[in-house]
Amino acid sequence: MSYHTRPYPEWSWSLARDQMFHACKRQYYYHYYGSHGGWLLTATPEAQTAYRLKQMKNLYIVLGDAIHTVAQKLLELREMGKPYPKQEQVISYIRNLLNAAYRDSKQKDRWWGYPKQYTMLHEMYYEGGLSPERIEVIANRITTCVSNLLASTSWREIRDNPDVTLLEVETLKDFIFHDEKIYVKLDVLYRRGDGTWVITDWKTGRIAEKNEEQLRLYALYIHEYYSVPLTHIEVRTEYLLDGICTRTHPDVEDIERIVHKIRASLNSMKSYLADSYYNRPLPLEQFAGAGHPSVCKSCNFRQICSEKQ
Ligand code: SF4
Repeated sequence: MSYHTRPYPEWSWSLARDQMFHACKRQYYYHYYGSHGGWLLTATPEAQTAYRLKQMKNLYIVLGDAIHTVAQKLLELREMGKPYPKQEQVISYIRNLLNAAYRDSKQKDRWWGYPKQYTMLHEMYYEGGLSPERIEVIANRITTCVSNLLASTSWREIRDNPDVTLLEVETLKDFIFHDEKIYVKLDVLYRRGDGTWVITDWKTGRIAEKNEEQLRLYALYIHEYYSVPLTHIEVRTEYLLDGICTRTHPDVEDIERIVHKIRASLNSMKSYLADSYYNRPLPLEQFAGAGHPSVCKSCNFRQICSEKQ
């Protein structure tokens, strides 16, 4: 049997893509182009390696994923009318997920063969282990994030109000905006009994300004995709590390700002294409490195990058 894939990936835009494009052009190349087709046995060794490196996660990301999984499972239990687990059970579940990631990471050959099925921790791959400091930080974060998730404004509102209708939970969606495919993944979207559409984003990191852009993008999506008036949309960030919930009601100016951002970002990204019809990128040499050791330190592609600092 022979396997075929497109010579170049499908073109689309997302905020994560924009953030990587601005952090390091070369990382952007490896992630969105160099790794394409790397899952095939017939791929070049470079593409196979880039594809595997792309899948790596650091411990903070694994924790973030685990918290999102827990939130999703709680919402599923709510929909099925089943009892919720106790806080200690949730903490233990997350610890098990993180321990499994650590065990996976010790078997490099197995991960290399099945990089989507198993986890490779960035710290294990590049540093050979986990520092005691990082383990302690993560252990503390598990307890804090779980406790704040269960006490969060959004979870309590969903749990305690039968008139809340869940509409999207961790679903990757796309919508067409100005003829461009835009990807979004909302942690939770629900409609309250009073007709308000609430988008909730769980964050396990510190408060950051870039979250504002994400929330504006979500509001644009709800406005465009579901034709919901802006006055009926509320966007929230639940900062689980700090136990803070921020709420915003996006206005026309917010939407204009994100539209301007998307247009500018699309133009910049497309200037790195040799052929926009096929989404064929310029040669690798045209994609500059980050130029900052701090960016390279956490980059998945250090192994193959000649520009690393
Ligand atoms: S190692 Fe540094 S320069 Fe190379 S892709 Fe990663 S961030 Fe960019």
